[in-house]
Amino acid sequence: MIFDAITGHNQQKNILQHALGNQRVAHAYLFEGPDGIGKKLMALFFARALLCQTGDGCGNCSACRKVDHHNHPDIHQLDADGAAIKIDQVRRLQQDLSLRPLEGGYKICLIDGAEQLTTSAANALLKTLEEPQPGTLIILLTSQPQKLLPTICSRCQRLPFSRLPKQQLATILMQKLDLSKVEATVLAALSEGSFKKALGSNRELFLEKRHKLIQSLSALSAGSIIPTFSFAEELAKEKETLTDILDFFQTFYRDLLLLKHAQPEDELVNLDLLELLHRQNKSTTASLLKKLTALESARFHLQRNVNHRLALEVMLMRITTA
Ligand SMILES: [Zn+2]
Repeated sequence: MIFDAITGHNQQKNILQHALGNQRVAHAYLFEGPDGIGKKLMALFFARALLCQTGDGCGNCSACRKVDHHNHPDIHQLDADGAAIKIDQVRRLQQDLSLRPLEGGYKICLIDGAEQLTTSAANALLKTLEEPQPGTLIILLTSQPQKLLPTICSRCQRLPFSRLPKQQLATILMQKLDLSKVEATVLAALSEGSFKKALGSNRELFLEKRHKLIQSLSALSAGSIIPTFSFAEELAKEKETLTDILDFFQTFYRDLLLLKHAQPEDELVNLDLLELLHRQNKSTTASLLKKLTALESARFHLQRNVNHRLALEVMLMRITTA
């Protein structure tokens, strides 16, 4: 019941539920795994269960409601101030944690993006982790545990989270966004198991726009220099989403490779472009690999801030002649 609203992550739910049931909650946890898959939601539900007046995260009592509205006085959240979580922030937190809980039996702190702790901030936090006050719970959240001090990791109970399987995410997206099965599957594949990405503002880009861009790309041919250059110009204007667009093109050629090698259709990303994929199926494996190499090379140059339009022109020329 405590974690009912969260889909998937059953093993993690069981571990936390067990800790609550046996009153063996650790003083610090490290939730590690990719961004946008529900780690923070899980931390908040866990905190809610600890602070709930009925003890099971009922969702109705005043403590639960305060947690849901992010205004419970015994929950502290620490996020990066700019690019880092600084020592001053950790010191302020330590002061807060040294006081008695205002309402519940617990004082809980969520440190989101824990990899952003500066070394001095991490060392300061280490003291709190080494000598925990009773009734204190610290939950660190990170997608990059390798960037944390090993001494921090070793003082937390580590709980790894994985991306949701594609089909599971697709089923949720169908319900939440009222999408068709094909659309939901495409979106799930492109979001790489990330709810945040799938439910975010990228939906139009991932569905309608991807459709249109891949169609434009596949309509280009080696002889059509002017359309190729104007498509490069169009893409160069997409500064914010260019990385996503190159991902789309990559999934398209990858799908063609899979089809070529008789892989089942449910392995494909662009299920809404099946007709186009089958029409393009004449490309040889060597040609598809060259196209993928052209994409990779463009990505490399774009990251180094070369002239975007030029890099994209070269990429498209290489793709159309591959
Ligand atoms: Zn409650």
